[in-house]
Amino acid sequence: MTASADSAAFAAFDALVASRLAEWTAELVEYLAIPSEGGDDASLRAAADWTAARLRRAGATVDVVEVPGAPPLVVGELGDGPRVINAVQHYDVQPAAPLELWTTPPYQPDVRDGRVWARGATDNKGEFLPRLWALEAYRDAIGPLPCRVRFLVEGQEETGSGALDALLDLRPHWRVADAALIEGGGLDLAGRPGVVGGGKGIVVFELLCHTLAHDAHSSLSVVLPNAGHRLIAALATFWDAEGRPAIHGLDAGKRPPTPAQLAVIAGMDMAELDDIRADWDVPVFLGGLDGAAAQEALTFETTLNLQGLWAGHTETTPKTVTPAEAHARLDIRIVPDQDPDEILAAVRRHLDTRGFADITIIPREGERAWWTPPDHIVVTTAAAVSADVAGMTASIGVSMAGTVPMWQVCGRDRVPATTLGAGRADCRAHAPDENIRIDDLAAAARMMGRFVDALARLPEVPRVP
Ligand SMILES: [Zn+2]
Repeated sequence: MTASADSAAFAAFDALVASRLAEWTAELVEYLAIPSEGGDDASLRAAADWTAARLRRAGATVDVVEVPGAPPLVVGELGDGPRVINAVQHYDVQPAAPLELWTTPPYQPDVRDGRVWARGATDNKGEFLPRLWALEAYRDAIGPLPCRVRFLVEGQEETGSGALDALLDLRPHWRVADAALIEGGGLDLAGRPGVVGGGKGIVVFELLCHTLAHDAHSSLSVVLPNAGHRLIAALATFWDAEGRPAIHGLDAGKRPPTPAQLAVIAGMDMAELDDIRADWDVPVFLGGLDGAAAQEALTFETTLNLQGLWAGHTETTPKTVTPAEAHARLDIRIVPDQDPDEILAAVRRHLDTRGFADITIIPREGERAWWTPPDHIVVTTAAAVSADVAGMTASIGVSMAGTVPMWQVCGRDRVPATTLGAGRADCRAHAPDENIRIDDLAAAARMMGRFVDALARLPEVPRVP
């Protein structure tokens, strides 16, 4: 246990954060100018180098590791003390295209209206840097860091973190930690912080149906099997008449919700369901789901989604052809403790028993879910420091809807994780005109300083049961 920094110390810390904000913003602009999209190896390398240099400048011990076929993992560790926090970040960004939808070019960061506009402004460069700035400001305003903070900054997050396990295996002690920070955090438009202890996992795969040696003249479709017909017939068995998944075994390995999780769901704002219906212009949800049942389904159900399908001739002019090949891509969002391989095996069994053994499954992505209970002390501590900075109570959720690579970092030792920070609901992550409010950069840094301090003071930090 470390003595708590008092409120006078945090007043000095907050003042330092405010005085450094302009300099920090300029630094973020420099980082954002690197177009580190997946597939652009030179820019990924440049972003990794920038990240490593910046961590070194903060006094971190830096180690950069690589495995073939993936961008480097940059790891920087600062501070002392018995507790270790893993901060899981990334320097890669989503593709900026379509470029014409941006008000200013995505890699010429623009500062206007109190925000920085660029790809990566929030996700994740503008969420990573405030955490590092906070540690520097803490040291300068308050004193030595009361915890060790290990930044794990990967370059493959936006394309599935496929190499993260192998990279972490190179230094197994990197997974050893008392708590982990998910890449960022959230504020709604009113500035209310939202904190969650994890995200869903995901399985992405393609189906390939091949019926002919090559495409045929459509007059032969009387006698030749059409790959498109066959794939559609297979897909028709995947959902019931109400559009709900009908693959046996899709629920394999699921943990039942805990009373604490169900209480969080019951306390959710059901009006957001009206927003979803209005936004997508649907009068009723699938199967007539509504209220707490709909929120429970959104949180705890394994999804089965068709992303797209393609076969034959799809140009505007007709062509009388019988396609030899048909393709579909699907994603399945999974929850604890489901295993991507078991889920794919269930899809395989389903196809086989329905008479589609000839259809090939091509796995594309597989990540497990990781949830820390909403009443865990790491989550409630993040909520408390967020509320302290935002000046209003934080909402606590069960899971983010998306996928973050927390299983790879936390799963083995059951390390508790939480979001922390200040990405705003209108930050347009993954979309054109991504931005971050400069005030929110300061808020995120102030939350991080307080979190590190509070975590050091907790009498104990239990593992996730
Ligand atoms: Zn991200």
